[in-house]
Amino acid sequence: MAVSLETPLARVLGPKTATGMAEQLGLHTVRDLLRHYPRRYARRGEMARLDDLQVGDRVTILAQVTSVNSRRMRQRHGTITEVTVGDGAGSMKLVFFNYKHARLQQGAWGLFAGTVGTYAGKLQFTHPDCHMLDNDTGDDDWARALVPIYPASKDVSSWVIQKSVKLLLGASGGFGDLVVDPLPEDIRARHGLLSLAAALLDIHRPTTMEDVEHAAERLKWDEALILQLTLAARRRAAALEPGTARSRRTGGLLDAVDAALPFELTEGQREVGEELAVELDRDQPMHRLLQGEVGSGKTVVALRAMAQVVDAGGQAALLAPTEVLAAQHARGIRQLLGPLGRAGELDGDAAGTRVTLLTGSLKTAAKREARAEVADGRAGIVIGTHALLQEGVDFADLGLVVIDEQHRFGVEQRDALRAKGSRPPHVLVMTATPIPRTVAMTVYGDLEISTLRQLPSGRGGVASSVVPVAEKPGWLDRAWERLREEVAAGRQAYVVCPRIGDSVDVAAGADDEPEDADGAPDDGPRTDRRPPLAVLDIAELLRNGPQAGLRLDVLHGRLTPEEKDARMQAFANRELDVLVATTVVEVGVDVPNATVMVVMDADRFGVSQLHQLRGRVARGRHAGLCLLVTEARTTSLTGQRLAAVAATSDGFELARLDLETRREGDILGAAQSGKRSGVRMLSLLEDEELIATARAEATALLETERGLADHPGLAAEVAALATDERAEWLEKA
Ligand code: ADP
Ligand code: MG
Repeated sequence: MAVSLETPLARVLGPKTATGMAEQLGLHTVRDLLRHYPRRYARRGEMARLDDLQVGDRVTILAQVTSVNSRRMRQRHGTITEVTVGDGAGSMKLVFFNYKHARLQQGAWGLFAGTVGTYAGKLQFTHPDCHMLDNDTGDDDWARALVPIYPASKDVSSWVIQKSVKLLLGASGGFGDLVVDPLPEDIRARHGLLSLAAALLDIHRPTTMEDVEHAAERLKWDEALILQLTLAARRRAAALEPGTARSRRTGGLLDAVDAALPFELTEGQREVGEELAVELDRDQPMHRLLQGEVGSGKTVVALRAMAQVVDAGGQAALLAPTEVLAAQHARGIRQLLGPLGRAGELDGDAAGTRVTLLTGSLKTAAKREARAEVADGRAGIVIGTHALLQEGVDFADLGLVVIDEQHRFGVEQRDALRAKGSRPPHVLVMTATPIPRTVAMTVYGDLEISTLRQLPSGRGGVASSVVPVAEKPGWLDRAWERLREEVAAGRQAYVVCPRIGDSVDVAAGADDEPEDADGAPDDGPRTDRRPPLAVLDIAELLRNGPQAGLRLDVLHGRLTPEEKDARMQAFANRELDVLVATTVVEVGVDVPNATVMVVMDADRFGVSQLHQLRGRVARGRHAGLCLLVTEARTTSLTGQRLAAVAATSDGFELARLDLETRREGDILGAAQSGKRSGVRMLSLLEDEELIATARAEATALLETERGLADHPGLAAEVAALATDERAEWLEKA
């Protein structure tokens, strides 16, 4: 049988295994299987770290049987077999019901796969899959020093994968005939890289860890180069797109905005503003990411760009992730523009424009009116949520798209809005989730990047502390006291909880808040934990206890948009002292007089999310205080994570920590991560240098006259990545 990379696994492995691989691991072709790399390698003599296991982990361990004990069950028919296995570092119990395995004997070595559970306080596997290793019969997999441990699934264990790879190897006589090396020879030579066939062989069947390292280096190169080629091609294509220059004009909206600003722009805001002004003035569309620390003042930078576009006769759209945020932007911008934002109204200034809010919750008539304003061009500034992306929203002349809090949106949403211009509009993407440079280079590789590091001067800053209630129960009372003190001093406070707490409660904020890509990552099973604290419960408790007499209300995703907006406004107008809320207040909400935030069950939130939340109380000249209340022990992983958040106010550093403590895909958002970008082995964090080098090679390759024409293998890989992306895009539509 001729096997190629495209051969369906079903033809090589048989239907049962192939089905399991397809359904549970997403592996369909020979290529997929070869690119399914071991997660780690178990070594003889240096066993899998049993003592590292956490309840709920699905793992494969390599261990030796130390005792076997079978007995009849009292309550039920049949026998129960308890097997203890050890790896030198720890031990663990395996429990089987009515099960016999001839080779499951004292002294035997085996691979055991299952979900780690507990019984009577001890870790155990119930009915793990076993693969006993045979020392004597020359089982060559066992004779090897390194046993690859693959990411596995319920029906496809690590050793089934191992055997399948071995089968492929046999069928194709090494990988030499099977794979066509896409990497140009000169690049390979320049960077001292293995051939692809050799790398694949070594990653799946290494003899030493050095083999693994060399192989990994080569495989990472493929990923980095193909990704960077894709991005470089996109940048080139974008640079060739015909756009419309939106030149700066004096005496218009932009000058009015500048005159109305109640503060001086920071140096960073001015510099980035200049950058944008120049790019808007070009007839290629701008593609720029503005990343800035929480509270660094991105909104006004965007507004000034929008004003320039309106002055040039175009329209600008601002896409916000939540209705609360969209409404806040509209309110703030209208206020700043005054009569200039009300053209066409009685008290409006005819030289100005209209600021139109378009969200899903508008009543039909209002929506129709808003759409009409957008379509006929009366609305120069259009602010909205996902509703903006819908069909039937047509712009007269869309000149600039601004996307606020990009981490809440996928690339496809950016593209959907872009497509609403008759010619490609300029695009400004903003995010307060700063990411390391190489990550940005990859995830936002088709965007140029501007960064606002500086906060406006005169900010009080935020002090953060962890309140470990399990160890220091008294501290919570002190936290509530602090809150009252701040309110007594004329300030306001947020109390944030992970959950709403009404009967329909599944997860907090079920409507326009796309929660929660960002939950607490690392604490194993959630089933045996109590449910997270809820807004409604905590509000009740505070009203009748520590905060009795204060003006307190709740805000969460299941209020109607009108209710949400009314409460947000009441809070902004200081008609409320305390807002008990879900993460609806996470992004962008801007009430400078709020100075305290108490986050309940802080361990249920991700690092970046906490940093965002905390950004809500760092917006004015008063010093902010953020209290992270948790039952987690200070010494636990979670406790340490919270301590790190409390210890630094540098969003870039926290983003790094976030990336380190969780899978990269989580923080980058599903739409931008992992499979989609073809990144399996590459670590965006650790392989900075490699990525930068690959980026340079990619750019150089595309700049040669023939581009990829002489490198069909590479071109095919790039095309395959594009197809993957398109396939996913279709699935989502
Ligand atoms: P973010 O970058 O997190 O979106 P915002 O744009 O919401 O931040 O700005 C945070 C707050 O800082 C707002 O109240 C805004 O009016 C204020 N602000 C913005 N720029 C300046 C400045 N140069 N000086 C003082 N305050 C500013
Ligand atoms: Mg913002």
